[in-house]
Amino acid sequence: MSVLANPSSPDRPQPRAGVMAIDPYVPGKSGAKTGVKVYKLSSNETPLGPSPQAVAAYKNAADHLELYPDGGSTALRDAIGQKYGLDPSRIICGSGSDEILSLLTSAYVGPGDEGIYTTHGFLVYKLALLAAGGVPVVAEEKNLTACVNTILAKVTAKTKIVFLANPNNPTGTYLPFDEVKRLHQNLPAHVLLVLDAAYAEYVRRNDYAAGIELVATNENVVMTRTFSKIHGLAMLRLGWGYAPAAVADALNRIRGPFNVNGPAMTAGIASLQDEAHMAKALDHNDHWLPWLTKEIEALGLTVTPSVGNFLLIHFPQTKGRSAKEADAFLTERGLILRAVGAYGLPDCLRLTIGSEEANRLVVTALKDFMARA
Ligand SMILES: *Cc1c(COP(=O)(O)O)cnc(C)c1O
Repeated sequence: MSVLANPSSPDRPQPRAGVMAIDPYVPGKSGAKTGVKVYKLSSNETPLGPSPQAVAAYKNAADHLELYPDGGSTALRDAIGQKYGLDPSRIICGSGSDEILSLLTSAYVGPGDEGIYTTHGFLVYKLALLAAGGVPVVAEEKNLTACVNTILAKVTAKTKIVFLANPNNPTGTYLPFDEVKRLHQNLPAHVLLVLDAAYAEYVRRNDYAAGIELVATNENVVMTRTFSKIHGLAMLRLGWGYAPAAVADALNRIRGPFNVNGPAMTAGIASLQDEAHMAKALDHNDHWLPWLTKEIEALGLTVTPSVGNFLLIHFPQTKGRSAKEADAFLTERGLILRAVGAYGLPDCLRLTIGSEEANRLVVTALKDFMARA
């Protein structure tokens, strides 16, 4: 047993109960063997990069790194409020939406309290719950999609929070807004419903809504959003949440006083204003998401219909055709997809919609993979 795993070494400080039971989050890999051009399609990053105006704003901020940022993220909250028609006092900003998810959990979940998420839900929920000493409760999905009935069946007197990624990562599926409303209507008033809408901008469905309306009219719903995906600012770590006033107040009490850095804020504001860049990113996805789905299905593989900027590809368990072997084969060509065994999907790989070049190379590589003896 490694010293790290020994829970009872008496001669050094010990983390709280449960901390060492958490499996560290493993991000999408980014490397291949040397000499091969790498296409990173493992973390749902945009192939278009950020808005040039966001990059310029970021560079400008470099002239005054000696100054503390505005701890209230005022200008950013105002810009978000203006863009979406929201009350800025109910917006909370964070170092990635991951931080908002953690803050919500540590504010509302204590030791022994339960938090619900779905079978293939985003891994950060479990991590945040365990870190808070909470008990993760998994609600079964139906057809790789969250199921309102099974979530509701898991609610007990101990339930404090329900996480719903809508659309979900890594499945790419979503719940229509009617279903989200039905979920909310049947939750006890003391349970906080967290709608993680990291991919909301990509969704092209009339029956979808990120959840703003529910947050606006209820005390127990929060919507989280990110600048990491369509805005292309993942490296800056910037996310936000829209919350009832009392929830925003609780989060403002426990967050770090300067939890969002200045260059990230100014880049975020510029990005919100660059609507042309956003439209370009959406057009790109609208074209290549269906193209990749169709091409990959034509190879005899199953693809879960996705409304995000990524696809879940299912491989057969046959030797020579497995997800694991496909992963190795694609990596050899510099095509880095995401293995999703940690999400309970060992026979799948998740593919981020990439540049035209990357997308075409993936299809060619999968064709060769399926054709090899
Ligand atoms: C990428 C992603 C996020 C965003 O995380 P950040 O911390 O904002 O980078 C949140 N939720 C889901 C489901 C995601 O896939």
